[in-house]
Amino acid sequence: MDNCTLDRLGIKDPRLIEDPKLEDQYKIYHNQPARFIHLLQTYSCLCPKCGQTMRKNGFKTVHIVGLPSGGVLNVFSIRKQKFICPDSPDCPKIVT
Ligand SMILES: [Zn+2]
Repeated sequence: MDNCTLDRLGIKDPRLIEDPKLEDQYKIYHNQPARFIHLLQTYSCLCPKCGQTMRKNGFKTVHIVGLPSGGVLNVFSIRKQKFICPDSPDCPKIVT
């Protein structure tokens, strides 16, 4: 999937890329046939509280149901980067 394909799907967020670990799959989602489009959102980030560069701390997967195409529901499965502030007693926040 390239940027042209992402644009055709209506995905405007430049931080979303095709997930290199997963390929699109057809599954049943809430009793309907669905195409799962796997995307990855990762970037570097500064702590909103203390301003330090945050460490990457795993991913959280969310599903967003898009409009159907070709009679099949499109489900965007997005692995979103989670962040944690570097060791600091004042700022133990986890941010997605
Ligand atoms: Zn912080």
